[in-house]
Amino acid sequence: MARPEADVRFAAELRFFLAPRHRVGQVRVACDGVSSLGHVVESLGVPLPEVGSLAVNGAPETPGYRLAAGDVAEAGPVDRPQRLPSARFILDVHLGALARRLRLVGIDATYANDLDDDVLIERANASRRVLLTQDRGLLRRRMLWLGAYVRGARPDDQLRDVLDRFGPPLAPWTRCTACNGPLAAVRKADVEPLLLPGTRRTYQAFSRCAACGRVYWHGAHGTRLDQIVNSAIRTVAASGPQAPSASQERSR
Ligand SMILES: [Zn+2]
Repeated sequence: MARPEADVRFAAELRFFLAPRHRVGQVRVACDGVSSLGHVVESLGVPLPEVGSLAVNGAPETPGYRLAAGDVAEAGPVDRPQRLPSARFILDVHLGALARRLRLVGIDATYANDLDDDVLIERANASRRVLLTQDRGLLRRRMLWLGAYVRGARPDDQLRDVLDRFGPPLAPWTRCTACNGPLAAVRKADVEPLLLPGTRRTYQAFSRCAACGRVYWHGAHGTRLDQIVNSAIRTVAASGPQAPSASQERSR
């Protein structure tokens, strides 16, 4: 007797998670009568936080469904933009450059390069931050409140992916790229002793990180950071309608 089998179809956006031999997008799986659909999807390499919809034989289903012989299941991607109660993030140890870019555009992004996975997940859950990672194992952890796989190898591509996915409100130049602390405007006279002569001559408007004391002045890094900010604004504008951002107003 043939063993019972079912098919699982994956939307194009999810196929890069699959093993190369499965990337046509439809995978035949054995029905063991025990494994949940969610488990089957994850065992094929697709983290559940990346799956926005599940259906079986055309009807919506939950990850707990058990596949039966002849079933055709479908897994779709998360909606973009994916709505969040608040756009706050924690990044795993490999995404430091992305963390600095998120802060540059004013997004609350916690990052430390010395946290192990358990602590990372604890902090994400305790502070209700979305865990950003490229580690699929982390996204499979049952304890994790909410996570997202970051697409792209280059930090600029990663930033575009996160902004396109969540469409968060931006507030460029309001957050310390070094420590994530909020920046507040300071009088030039208050920071003058800290400045090099060239900076003192050239710039008039300064801000300082309330957490680490670092002093910032707009234009210090030339057009490169402006390019990142402008590109971020375009990405978010294209990602869908935005809720108004109070912090954006304040930064004017
Ligand atoms: Zn700081």
